[in-house]
Amino acid sequence: MIIDQNTVVSLHYKLQEDNAEGELIEETNGGDPLTFLFGVGQMIPEFEANLEGKSAGDEFAFGILHTDAYGPYDDDAVAALPLSVFMFEGELDTEMLQPGRTIPLRDEEGRLLYGTVEEIRENEVVMDFNHPMAGLDLYFTGRIESVREATQEEIDHNHVHGAGGHEH
Ligand SMILES: [Zn+2]
Repeated sequence: MIIDQNTVVSLHYKLQEDNAEGELIEETNGGDPLTFLFGVGQMIPEFEANLEGKSAGDEFAFGILHTDAYGPYDDDAVAALPLSVFMFEGELDTEMLQPGRTIPLRDEEGRLLYGTVEEIRENEVVMDFNHPMAGLDLYFTGRIESVREATQEEIDHNHVHGAGGHEH
């Protein structure tokens, strides 16, 4: 079976910055493979475009420019917020407030957004609301482990059931 719309794909991958010599960003090798329903918008479109037509056992290696991945890095998405934003019941959550940590916050409209702690100053915290991979050119290598047809239920739910997916 080849990878196409409404197939369930399991693969192992290694993600590096720029190219095969670039810094390691993440990898599934040694852990569970990534399993996803193909063609429903869960993955970066360019990632799926590079996998379409492959089958179990095939290996892959391709790059995706940041403009086709998580977009350019936006300097305006970095903001200094008052320390009071990070107070819970009058106390600072020092366990959560660590440089490099990604934490959930709510904006004025109550929308949930994620930011990474950049720097903690005396009265404010510099937060970076860019996606952690914003501005990075991505390089993927890996191997397709399995491809199967999605069930009607999986297509209806827009996600994978069973191993590597939703258990319900
Ligand atoms: Zn479901």
